[in-house]
Amino acid sequence: MKSDESTVSRSKKKKKCPFIGSPGKDCYFLDMNSNKISMALFYCQNHYAQCAIYKKMKTKKSVHKDLKR
Ligand code: SF4
Repeated sequence: MKSDESTVSRSKKKKKCPFIGSPGKDCYFLDMNSNKISMALFYCQNHYAQCAIYKKMKTKKSVHKDLKR
């Protein structure tokens, strides 16, 4: 039983945004006000793929990679 529980808890584990370590100036968690707290909790913790800022930063990063080639 214990292995089933650990499998379930692992699959429910939150996936933080990869940009938390190097955030952009517009990232929600940098300027926590009442509007941004809920956005940061939702997007930065587990739904970063849906974050407009994430999408923008990811695109910029891939453009920079392409320019370096
Ligand atoms: S989820 Fe969006 S706001 Fe949060 S750290 Fe990632 S890019 Fe920034």
